[in-house]
Amino acid sequence: MDDKFYVSYNTVHKLVKNLAAKILGSGFDPDVIVAIGSGGFIPARIIKTFINRPIYAVGISYYGVDKKHRDHPTKIQWIDEVADQLRGKNVLLIDEVDDTRATLAYCVGELLSYKPQEIAVLVLHNKLKKKDVEFPPEIRRYYPALEIEDKWIKYPWDAEDIDEHTELERRMLEETGEVRI
Ligand code: 5GP
Repeated sequence: MDDKFYVSYNTVHKLVKNLAAKILGSGFDPDVIVAIGSGGFIPARIIKTFINRPIYAVGISYYGVDKKHRDHPTKIQWIDEVADQLRGKNVLLIDEVDDTRATLAYCVGELLSYKPQEIAVLVLHNKLKKKDVEFPPEIRRYYPALEIEDKWIKYPWDAEDIDEHTELERRMLEETGEVRI
């Protein structure tokens, strides 16, 4: 078996459900959800099942709208038109993975300019590694559903054969002796 970390749709759903319970349990009452696309879109939609708030989508990429590679994240879709919706509000920011942290930290910095009450950051997976950037001190709630070693994560929405993908997760968990959540 290869050295990738496979994650099935069922696992994503359960990770998000756990995150929703954690964030509500912490006393944070979000007004809006901001999903970083495209990896944060499906987790954001699932979280809406447990915390029913409007979702705003933003697109951040190392590739600009001109498709040229940048050495830092850049906006390819943004939410200036809803700036008023964020001012003084509790924002739940969600993405699928915190790798180098560059994307999340950039997004947090931009959202802070709208003067929200607070931003809580949720991710499915945090890779345990040295990050390129840290969060600003305004981020007091950071919830990764799972902390994992620095491996490439295979998410179900990238799978061309979802049955094979789900089976690969099952075999990975069997081999590593990890418990399915
Ligand atoms: P960053 O390095 O800024 O934390 O992550 C940038 C983006 O790279 C993430 O939003 C995600 O789309 C992608 N990425 C980073 N690590 C992985 C991974 O292990 N698997 C997948 N599928 N995407 C990843």
